[in-house]
Amino acid sequence: MLVIFRRHLKNCEHFSDGRKWRRCRCPIHVEGSVGHESVRQALNLTSWEAAQQWVRDKEAGGTLHTPASVTLEEAVEKFFEDAPGRKLKPATIKKYRVVLIQLRVYANQRGVSLLKHVSVDFVRGFRTSWADGAISGAKKLERLRAFFRWCILSKWMSENPAAGVHSPVVEIVPTLPFEPKEVAAVLVHAKDPRWHALILLLRWSGLRIGDAMKLTGDDLNGDRLFVRTEKTGVRVYVPLPQNVAQELAALPLYAGYFFWNRAGESKIETATGNARRALRKIFEEASVKNGHPHRFRDTFAVELLKSGVPIETVSRLLGHSDIRITQRSYSPWVQSLQKILEDAVRRTWPKPTLQRVK
Ligand SMILES: [Zn+2]
Repeated sequence: MLVIFRRHLKNCEHFSDGRKWRRCRCPIHVEGSVGHESVRQALNLTSWEAAQQWVRDKEAGGTLHTPASVTLEEAVEKFFEDAPGRKLKPATIKKYRVVLIQLRVYANQRGVSLLKHVSVDFVRGFRTSWADGAISGAKKLERLRAFFRWCILSKWMSENPAAGVHSPVVEIVPTLPFEPKEVAAVLVHAKDPRWHALILLLRWSGLRIGDAMKLTGDDLNGDRLFVRTEKTGVRVYVPLPQNVAQELAALPLYAGYFFWNRAGESKIETATGNARRALRKIFEEASVKNGHPHRFRDTFAVELLKSGVPIETVSRLLGHSDIRITQRSYSPWVQSLQKILEDAVRRTWPKPTLQRVK
């Protein structure tokens, strides 16, 4: 028989409750035996359902180590153990790490633990969950196919579940800022002070949600926020409205971080995923259609452009590596700015004489 339990982290508030407490997000361990094999290890799963499924699968298989009982987790681990021997470059390994970590998080959330349960449908769903553009999405899919080819060579799978999945179609996500009343409605429905502060932060800093999760207390200096963007590494300060800075400063920190609860969310992807889910729920409750965290960034950018801030400045604040990215995303608003300028000029022209109507 196999027993699963959570091994509580030192900073878990249920540390002293021991094994009987399972409703936190501490790492799940397994111990016990199947047939003549015994096991005592960390499962690298945070979902209790996924861990239970793992146990059911191993017990039903009657063994811990057959091709049919290889977990996705084990396969990914072995893949990276094998990578240096295959002379993969560190940069390539890093790219594999990005997609395979994401795959593990996705599988964990859906309670899929065994490699054999990774189906074509599953891979399609996984692809649909990506926020990447078409080009990086296609590259990611290629890495995924290579990973499953390697699993087939290892005799753990017979078919490649990513082979029949098409590359994402080039999709231009329209930039769509929120109306001020939509932002207000969202804030009313953000009952949790942390999500309330996160929404204000996204709206007034233009940060990507993933970058916001990485902010620490040290990044806030009075009302100035030190913004490091992951994509370009350029360092920029963004001033925040006083109420936003105050709300942020009032949040109790998680070991230094504003939003990343590292005790329960060891991976940044998990923390970002949890924040996205919380916001999705708030958008629904506020009846804001097509609510998406990225739209706060758009709102930040468009409001600046509408106020006449030059696009070069907006581009730097957004951390774009190339101003053409900013131009491409926000050209309709740059055009509307042009219209504002023209209207201003027109207003200075002499008006035709008004005639009083009875
Ligand atoms: Zn715990």
